[in-house]
Amino acid sequence: MTHIPNNTLPSSSNELDAKRKEKLRGQLKDWVKKNQLMLEILLDAYCVVDTESQVVDFNVAFTELCGESYRKVKKIADFSSLLHTEQSPIKDVLEAQKSLRLDEIRGSSKAFPDLKMIIGAIPVISDSGDSIGALITMRNVTAESLLQKKYDERKKESVIDGLTKVYNKVYAEEYLLKMLKATLRDSKPLSVVMTDIDHFKKVNDTFGHPTGDHVLAAVSGLLKDESRDTDAVGRFGGEEFIVILAKSDVEGAKIFAERYRKRVESTKISFEGNEVPVRVSIGTATFNQEWAPGMDLGSIAKELVSKADTALYFAKANGRNQVCQIESLPSENNNRDSNKK
Ligand code: GH3
Ligand code: MG
Ligand code: MG
Repeated sequence: MTHIPNNTLPSSSNELDAKRKEKLRGQLKDWVKKNQLMLEILLDAYCVVDTESQVVDFNVAFTELCGESYRKVKKIADFSSLLHTEQSPIKDVLEAQKSLRLDEIRGSSKAFPDLKMIIGAIPVISDSGDSIGALITMRNVTAESLLQKKYDERKKESVIDGLTKVYNKVYAEEYLLKMLKATLRDSKPLSVVMTDIDHFKKVNDTFGHPTGDHVLAAVSGLLKDESRDTDAVGRFGGEEFIVILAKSDVEGAKIFAERYRKRVESTKISFEGNEVPVRVSIGTATFNQEWAPGMDLGSIAKELVSKADTALYFAKANGRNQVCQIESLPSENNNRDSNKK
């Protein structure tokens, strides 16, 4: 048994712990020295922390992110006092000994009270396989994510009709193509419903334009309410709306259209003390897989809209406040002009 002189034994377990930590920190500093060239070319803010989250190395970009001087960062050294993050990268990396990337992590520092960052972290592992620290890189993406948010909002605004809050015509047509693509792929039917307010001009003439606007917003609201999340509602003209019903056959389109027609008829729409009687006429057209093989998407979409429009014309001509359907490909005598005669 080896004899250890008393004066070389640590006086307490605390001292032992401190010595061990010092040794690990020394190893970490060696690692930093060895990797200095690599660390120097990092463009993002970086810091190297030990197992106690003490910063042992960092670059200027890190001081800028923290909003502290070089000397202050050295003095404070505790990573979490310099930079708060909603999710701590250090613990996970040290425990799992795996690299980590966190996108759009919220945080704050003296310089940036409301930060969004991309954080990358790798563990530093000693020769004996222990985690002795972590290299953490931080990219401030606050400006980019604000810009992206604004862009997303603008994009959304550009496809929505301001008054009725349903899709505008351009986007509804685009959406129809997208839904038709899925329809062809899944071998499911798809229906297009065209609705138009009856004698809407009279509403404007009798109650004024603001009341007309209110009616438009009300009927489009009902239309959205009656449709499913997978359907799409768009404003196709002044008081004409389109609904694209996903996976709906002729019968499904009829049920939807009748339900909506009755809903409008039974809903009290009032504006500035005036109750406005509103009725709608509806035309539907349905696409199914036997329909015109070889036809391109654009032609199918045009044909569907045109057929739903023709059906709507029939509903108007037949006395309004009703649903008319076109079930198959238009035949020569099924178009609007021949019906007008
Ligand atoms: P029908 O039953 O045949 O559809 O008759 P209608 O009066 O509804 O049809 P018409 O096409 O003659 O009139 C549509 C009216 O819709 C005329 C137009 O002033 C009005 N309109 C279009 N866009 C708006 C809008 O944004 N707000 C208001 N208040 N009225 C609008
Ligand atoms: Mg009308
Ligand atoms: Mg109209």
